Amino acid sequence: MSDIIQLLPDHVANQIAAGEVVQRPASVVKELLENAIDANATDIKLLIKEAGKLLIQVIDNGKGMSQTDARLSFERHATSKIKKAEDLFNLHTKGFRGEALASIAAIAHVELKTKQENTDLGTSIKIEGSSLVSQETIATTTGTSIAVKNLFYNIPARRNFLKSNTIETRHIVNEFQRVALAHPTISFSFYHNESEIYNLVSSNLRQRIVAILGKKTNEKLVPINEVTDVVEINGFVTKPEFAKKKRGEQFFFVNNRFIKNAYLNHAVTSAFEKLLSGGYYPTYFLFLTVPTKSIDINIHPTKTEIKFDDEKTLYAILRSTIKHSLGQYNVAPVLDFERSASFDTPYEFKNKKSSTPKVQVDPNFNPFKSEEKSTLKYPYKKENTSKWESLYTGINVDNIEVESETINSALFSETSSNSKTYQIHNKYIVSSIKSGIVYINQNLAHQRILYEEFLENITVKEAMSQQLLFPLEISFNKSDIELIKNIKEDLENIGFLFDRILDDTIIIKGIPVTIVESQITIIIEQLLEDIKNDVPETSFSQLDIMSKSLAKTLAIKTGNKLDLREQEELVNKLFSCKQPDLSPFGKTTFVTINIDEIDRKFNN
Ligand code: ADP
Ligand code: MG
Repeated sequence: MSDIIQLLPDHVANQIAAGEVVQRPASVVKELLENAIDANATDIKLLIKEAGKLLIQVIDNGKGMSQTDARLSFERHATSKIKKAEDLFNLHTKGFRGEALASIAAIAHVELKTKQENTDLGTSIKIEGSSLVSQETIATTTGTSIAVKNLFYNIPARRNFLKSNTIETRHIVNEFQRVALAHPTISFSFYHNESEIYNLVSSNLRQRIVAILGKKTNEKLVPINEVTDVVEINGFVTKPEFAKKKRGEQFFFVNNRFIKNAYLNHAVTSAFEKLLSGGYYPTYFLFLTVPTKSIDINIHPTKTEIKFDDEKTLYAILRSTIKHSLGQYNVAPVLDFERSASFDTPYEFKNKKSSTPKVQVDPNFNPFKSEEKSTLKYPYKKENTSKWESLYTGINVDNIEVESETINSALFSETSSNSKTYQIHNKYIVSSIKSGIVYINQNLAHQRILYEEFLENITVKEAMSQQLLFPLEISFNKSDIELIKNIKEDLENIGFLFDRILDDTIIIKGIPVTIVESQITIIIEQLLEDIKNDVPETSFSQLDIMSKSLAKTLAIKTGNKLDLREQEELVNKLFSCKQPDLSPFGKTTFVTINIDEIDRKFNN
């Protein structure tokens, strides 16, 4: 039989490699920013258009490339950063694989302009889908500019797979923030569709954090500094009272490279134990410096995973360093109980059972309470009770009620005589149905109800809003503001009214009638977080994510007591939903138990 193995042509190999290196526009941003840093740039500009789908350009004032290097830089495994295998264990640069530019050039239109300091003229190169279109000598400034246009133009499947501009921009902002935080002395600017997102001057780490995350961050930061034989730790954590109900702002850098590491994250979180209530996450910016020999960064092409020689020791050092710093800054309870609590201001832990962060949803909030008036204004769709009725048809309601009344005092603590529903454990609504009994999970059922209502309101665009007596100001960091601008119209469709959106603050003058004012901040924060995380993979659009997020935040919780009218309303609304059996996140909202099953239990 003849030989069948062939070497793949370069452009095919490059396209395959590109699949690993470039998942989305943000991957290109990361590679280009890192190349600029490796070239010792002190000033880096990032310009993007249409969330990077149209253009990603990075302009640096680094060392530039010679004419030959400029051409070579697009070859696969072409790198100036390592020469031999041993160099892999002594890395001081971001890149080393020599894959990024080759991969990017395989799947986009790339224009490179570069010039070294000691030459008068520079080089311009155009490459499309791995093939050289032109190479010229040009007059240009020292440094490098790389423009990547029409990403995935030749791989429609990948291009179609990209998420909405909001989500892709969010990924780019994340990459930008990581790089900018790791290099505070480098000045960075970032423009999206010609509007400025960030303009960061050369500064120290604290100033850089504040410039990225907003003025209010400054007072929240607790410095962390520790030098040991195995690791040096620098950076900041935020005081526990500023913990967020989202994981977003957690940054680990090892040797100035952003990494994700669940184990080390656990070390930080555990240092906060007892200071944070469930569901709250500390914000941190931690820089670990370890000997290059003790890590292996070469695990994944996108290089956010990392392997340490001695993770256990690192864990212990990290945890105790943070605990110690929190104690030093009077953030954690001090051992000296004699001291007056006022000495520890503003953190009077003595008067608190545990430190509960300020932003919290009122656990007793019951959206049904206000509904008497809101049903008048709120455009609920006409109730379609068909599914509900079909469960009930054929039962003699009177009969069942009499039955349940007899057993009621023994089995149920809270019910009234002519009711069809009971609430048990402040968690489930129980009711008799034709075939037996139905148990409804109140939280999941309400999520389904709200989800369908919000989705309808967002798409139909006729939700009602209530004017606030005093406009509400909420501050956000710049990138969150960008995100809010992007979803403003959708928010308006569900009943939010904006007075103004400033650089770091939004002013709200109206909110949906279904929401109470005290919840707005948490609702919007959760909403932004869910959009950023693009939580449900199956979601068909941003509107869907928004509706899910709002439903999750606003649904009545387990533990809320519902009166009869509320129970009945929940049941009726659930069964007039389009898909009553599942929560918007796919969980079962109710279970039924057949009378046969019950009978069987008595036949033993
Ligand atoms: P790597 O960064 O892994 O070496 P890349 O494909 O990202 O691989 O880049 C290939 C080479 O091109 C780099 O090693 C470097 O020599 C050169 N290069 C890339 N970007 C720049 C830049 N902005 N300034 C100067 N040289 C660059
Ligand atoms: Mg590189």
